[in-house]
Amino acid sequence: MKVNRNFDNLGESYLFAEVARRTKNYSESHPDKKIIRMGIGDVTLPLAPVVVEAIRNAADEMGVKETFKGYPEYEGYDFLREAISGYYASFGVSVDASEVFVNDGAKSDCGNIGDIFSKDCTVLVTDPVYPVYVDSNIMAGRRIVYAPSSSENGFCAMPDKSIHADIINLCSPNNPTGAAYNAEQLKAWVDYAIENDAIILYDAAYEAFIQEDLPRSIFAIEGARQCAIEFCSLSKTAGFTGLRCGYTVIPKELERDGHNIGKLWYRRQSTKFNGVSYPVQRAAQAVFSPEGQRQTRENIDYYKRNASVIAAAMDELGISYTGGKNSPYIWITCPNGMGSWEFFDYVLENANVVGTPGEGFGECGKGCMRFTSFADHEATIEAMERIKKAVRALA
Ligand code: PLP
Repeated sequence: MKVNRNFDNLGESYLFAEVARRTKNYSESHPDKKIIRMGIGDVTLPLAPVVVEAIRNAADEMGVKETFKGYPEYEGYDFLREAISGYYASFGVSVDASEVFVNDGAKSDCGNIGDIFSKDCTVLVTDPVYPVYVDSNIMAGRRIVYAPSSSENGFCAMPDKSIHADIINLCSPNNPTGAAYNAEQLKAWVDYAIENDAIILYDAAYEAFIQEDLPRSIFAIEGARQCAIEFCSLSKTAGFTGLRCGYTVIPKELERDGHNIGKLWYRRQSTKFNGVSYPVQRAAQAVFSPEGQRQTRENIDYYKRNASVIAAAMDELGISYTGGKNSPYIWITCPNGMGSWEFFDYVLENANVVGTPGEGFGECGKGCMRFTSFADHEATIEAMERIKKAVRALA
């Protein structure tokens, strides 16, 4: 037999392993140093009380014959799909409950959606990029083209009309750069997608962090229903990284190549996916209740305060960055023209703080570093004090 040799074309899964290796080496040789981790993309605050209560109640129902639930619907229970539709309406976007597909997190659908598209499709990703979009398409053997971003375009990559793409992966607010598209920029992508008969795969995993007047959904943009699929997640919105729940929105009218895209996706899901557990869907529903929104907002605000601390430190140092305002990520240009790994080592050794080297996210990440706001607040303050001191010592 033969294996899928496309896997030979994957780069090493090197970034986080290398960060862990260097951090471990340093801490083993300096056991007295307290290392602060600002590289992690996982949340640290616990679930909101309403969410925990909903899981408990659902667990109780599962233990009683009359209310026990077996296999869930592939596309999610109506109560959750309705709640998600209501959530979209709360920021002025019309999504029908029947267009919502509940899943076990955005990563699965971002990676699996390619099942319904031809291997011959050309995939556009922005650079730097969330690696899932790249690796899942390499596994499938698709050609990838890159739309570069840099400090010159505020790390908001824009379409190049001379390049054709069939599938366009956008992520806003962006991981890793924290940059968020405005309506005009998204309209340019929608127009480009329509001209190319392409589909935009829009990852809105961080929409809940948007505080400025920016689109929270691609479907806030005219024309997007003709050319876009949206992925969202409760992981960062409501601390569901361990609980696992997200959702994908496919407009009813979205068609390509003579096929309805929502129907193709339903066919795919009903073949390879058996749905999200009842207690988790009840937990997700609780997030969208008024009390759930209030409680989860408190956690988001906590992370946003951390982001402000990081942004303020960079302002003081005169280091340019994107993100922090509408995103839990702060993406900095390393000082003194240092390379990503060079600055990583410098900060680890001189401030005992761990970031994520930008070049791990693509060519355009060279010379950049990502800090996350998911650490403890006091630790974030201390980390920034140490970084300020270490960076000033460079001068
Ligand atoms: N999309 C982006 C841009 C992410 O950064 C992440 C997680 O870090 C995901 C999707 C995956 O989220 P989930 O936990 O819902 O699978």
